[in-house]
Order: sequence, then C-alpha cells, then structure tokens
Amino acid sequence: MDTVKKPELLAPAGDFEKLRAALSFGADAVYLGGAEYSLRSKAKNFDAEGITQAVKYAHGLGRKVYVTVNIYARNEDFKCMYDFLIKLRCTGADAVIVSDPGVFSLVKEIIPDMDIHISTQANTTNYRAAAFWAKAGAKRAVLARELSIAEIEEIRRATPAIELEAFVHGAMCMAYSGRCLLSHYLTGRGANRGECAHPCRYKYALMEETRLGEYFPIEEDSRGAYIMSSKDLCLIEYIPQLIASGVSSFKIEGRMKSVYYTAAAVKAYRCAIDDYFNDPELYESNKGVYLSDLFLTAHRDFTTGFFTGKLNESIRVHDGPDAEHGSDFCGIVKSYDADSNWAVVEQRGKFGVGEELEFLTAEGSGFRQIINEMFDLNSAPLQNAPHPRQLLRIRAVRPVRELDILRRRVSPFSHNN
Ligand code: SF4
Repeated sequence: MDTVKKPELLAPAGDFEKLRAALSFGADAVYLGGAEYSLRSKAKNFDAEGITQAVKYAHGLGRKVYVTVNIYARNEDFKCMYDFLIKLRCTGADAVIVSDPGVFSLVKEIIPDMDIHISTQANTTNYRAAAFWAKAGAKRAVLARELSIAEIEEIRRATPAIELEAFVHGAMCMAYSGRCLLSHYLTGRGANRGECAHPCRYKYALMEETRLGEYFPIEEDSRGAYIMSSKDLCLIEYIPQLIASGVSSFKIEGRMKSVYYTAAAVKAYRCAIDDYFNDPELYESNKGVYLSDLFLTAHRDFTTGFFTGKLNESIRVHDGPDAEHGSDFCGIVKSYDADSNWAVVEQRGKFGVGEELEFLTAEGSGFRQIINEMFDLNSAPLQNAPHPRQLLRIRAVRPVRELDILRRRVSPFSHNN
C-alpha cells in the first residue's frame, strides 16, 4: 500500500454548516457553489465573503475548497462574470470547477494561477478529451458518470498529465451527466443553468389524447411508475478497483442534501478508504458496515451505474420519487462539556424522553443510548423537543463533539432491500 497514493475524498458543501460537517467527518476537500454561475442554484451558495471564510476555515484544517462556476454560459453571463472572477481571485480558493470553454478561457485570463477542474458537466468520456483539457491547462478532469472502470483505467494510462476525479456516491441523472432539457421544458427551470426541478423523479401516467384529464396509471408496483428516475450511485464496494485505476479524487454528490447526509456519506467513505489502506482485509470484512450506514441516510435504491460496464441491471428507481431512509435526523451537537458529559444539541427532527437514539460521531463508531432526561438552556425539564432548531441539553453516555449527529433508526438494515 505504501506506493499507492491515497485518493482525496471530496464532499459537497451546500452551506457553511455542511462544509464544517464534511470536514469534521473526514473529507479532504469540499466543493461549493458561488452565489452566481454555479449549478445547483437552489443550494444556499456562497458569496465572495462566504467563500473566503470557507477557505480560511478549510485551510486551517489543512483541507481544500473548490468553487463551481459550471453553468453553460450565455453571452449575457459574461457581463458580470468578470467581476465575480476578480472577487474569486481574492478568496484563496484552491480550484475553480468549470464546464464551458468560454468560462475556462476567462478564468485563465483573470485567475491564471488558480487550478481549473473540468466539471463532469463537460462530459469527459475519453482520453483524447482528457488530453485536450490537460493541454489547455486544466489540472483535473471530473470524469463523466457514464464511464466503466475499464474506460477510466484506459484514460489514466493514456493521459498521465491530468488528475482524474470520479463520482463514487449520490444521485444520478437519466440524461448524459445532467445535459438535459426536461426540467426546462416542463417547468421553465433549466438544468444547465443550475435550476433543475428534477422532473425525472416525478410520477408519470398514461393519457389517451381524446380523454383529457383521464390518467391511466402505469404500474411497476403498487406505488406507480417512475419511468425516468435513476437509482443512486454507490461504489463503496469498489474502493480497491477505484484506487488501482489511478483516480485521484473520490467525489460524493449532494450539495442540496442534508447535513446529516453529508456527515454520514463522508464518514462511510472515509472509513472505507482508511480501512483499505490500513488493511485490505479489514475493508473487506467491514463492507457490510459501510453499506448499512449509507442505507440509513436518505437514498433511492443503490446502483453501480455504468461502473462495471455491464448494463444488464436497470438503473431506474422502482420505489417512488422520494428517497428512502433508514433513520431520522433528530439533531446536531453544538457543544459538549467533557467534565459533566452534557451536550447541547440543536433539534432537527422531533424526539422525546424515553426514546433510544444514536449518536453518529466523527470519531469512533458512534453509539446508541436512551434519552433519559432533557432540558432547555434555562435548565427547565422537557419531555420532548417539538420545535425546529430548539437548543437542548442531553447527557451523552460517551464523548461527542460539535457537529456530531443525533439520529433515530426507523428500519432494520438490510442491504438486500
Ligand atoms: S431532470 Fe433529472 S435527468 Fe434532467 S438534469 Fe434534472 S436531475 Fe438530471
């Protein structure tokens, strides 16, 4: 293992709390959107001052921040993009992620010293495309999700001059890496402008053209049919192959997802990568644990997508548009006093005294405990915590730290379900 470089674990940072959680749970780097010009425009993106703070925070921990400017730009976008890039130059960000060659050229002009990563939205699917971007001055290409491991390996062998980044976990598009007009057509919100309304997740029915309003259900199961909704990518069982392929960065999708999702997904992949480098047999024996932790977060059915090159399994979701989840997000730790064992927890979902909850901890394996008593910050006893973002004092039976997660398991784990 000594000769193989440990890949970077790259996590989404939809806001500052998610950024801090991603880093607390072990991400080596985060990617975030600028307030403008980023896909996922519905995420709480960062303005220049926010990016500066994020970079300062991450650099203080020795980690990196990449900023997405990955819209497909229209002429009018360049009027203000110049100013945005000038501001971005002063933030200290480690790289900018772009798709559009016009944006690429403007970044080279205005921030020539900043690394440029080519977004997955640019659909790098072959070694000549990777070589093209390397020659143009890109530091890294985020590969298209549609590639098999054999194709990734071939790109790595043929194009040593550019770092490769690959998605390992999260939602996928039915369209080619998000190059899709469905949302724009149905809702007026353009996916390539960062405004996707995810209509591929909607429930669809059949209508005969003369019987307006009479919808005939298409049934795949009792819940209907979701004919365009993709399962979620999960490659945690393929860490050794991904490392051997020479991919430099393992990327988790999900800037719009909860801080709990961010923490749990990062923790699972952090453990998987570290276990593998410590002892490949440890990784093999813990695969079920990583998967069970990922099953506890909000997710659709998991798929390996295009990774194996065998598309003999459907990558559609059959269970509906809403993500399944094996646990509820109950709270996040704001502070902990090691002398008294009392933690201050911010409520993120209802829970009450007498319930068995679980702390997902950045350090160690987490633990379950009964909530025997609970108080507000004025020391008034409480039986339950009904108010969103209410601050509560709970005694933790083992040490926790800020940003650890309190959750309730709602279904027993089975990674065959
Ligand atoms: S509608 Fe679905 S397939 Fe199209 S860009 Fe949005 S998420 Fe992707």
